[in-house]
Amino acid sequence: MKSIPEALKVRGRAVRLARWNPRATPGCKDKDEAAERLAQNLARIDTLQYRLYGESRRSLLIVLQGMDTAGKDGVIRNALTVFNPQGCRVWSFKVPTPDEAAHDFLWRIHRAAPARGDVAIFNRSHYEDVLVVRVHGLVPRNVWSRGYKLINAFESHLHEQGTRVLKFFLHISRKEQRQRLLARLDEPLKRWKFSDADLTERTRWRGYQRAYEEALARCSTKYAPWYVIPSDRKWYRDLAVSEIVVDALEQMNPRLPKAKLDLKRLRARLAR
Ligand code: AMP
Ligand code: MG
Repeated sequence: MKSIPEALKVRGRAVRLARWNPRATPGCKDKDEAAERLAQNLARIDTLQYRLYGESRRSLLIVLQGMDTAGKDGVIRNALTVFNPQGCRVWSFKVPTPDEAAHDFLWRIHRAAPARGDVAIFNRSHYEDVLVVRVHGLVPRNVWSRGYKLINAFESHLHEQGTRVLKFFLHISRKEQRQRLLARLDEPLKRWKFSDADLTERTRWRGYQRAYEEALARCSTKYAPWYVIPSDRKWYRDLAVSEIVVDALEQMNPRLPKAKLDLKRLRARLAR
């Protein structure tokens, strides 16, 4: 059986989302198994982040994308809060402010890139410039279509500088989105999350799927792979993200600096 990271990684030049089942749970039997493995993964992440921070040479960037209600906030809350806030920042990218819009589209993104030793989590990202911008025709095609190449060059640059880049597309079905939007109306504690704009975006479902397919196909690279996370089942989504993060951190294998201390002498000084 393929490992979760192997099963979900995007390879090749064509991506047909219709072929990725949002209810699939490759590499995990059921919810109980997922809960157990998630707990183990969180413990591993805790240790590995400590080492990454101590090593202070490399960094980790986690990009979250997905349709409204796909679970970007949920993943952060359930699988990523394990990161020690000293060494981790979450950035949510919204409609560009006037200052952001006055710069090139990667300007606000690069400023948020993780420092050495740190983790950064992007709730939406530079990909919005080949997603919402494309679907709504906010700029002409010849402008957004250059984005893919620029994004690849940018991510390659981050990679060369020691940043591991992981990108997650939280893949839900249109039917599941309907359920989740209805829940936002039905459950008083979720109502604040409801936005009329979500319904407008929903009418563009096909356009978004096509835009995602192109972004996944053109920008899944060796140095910054995309993963399609089946997200209709929240328990699988959270497990899959945690598993891919653990796997990447283990491959990075950060090492704490070796302290060169004369323990005998130092202890003697502390004896007073
Ligand atoms: P939310 O994530 O629900 O807080 O919504 C943020 C909104 O900002 C979404 O509708 C995004 O599509 C939008 N957004 C993010 N980045 C951009 C961008 N570069 N251009 C236009 N809209 C954007
Ligand atoms: Mg929203």
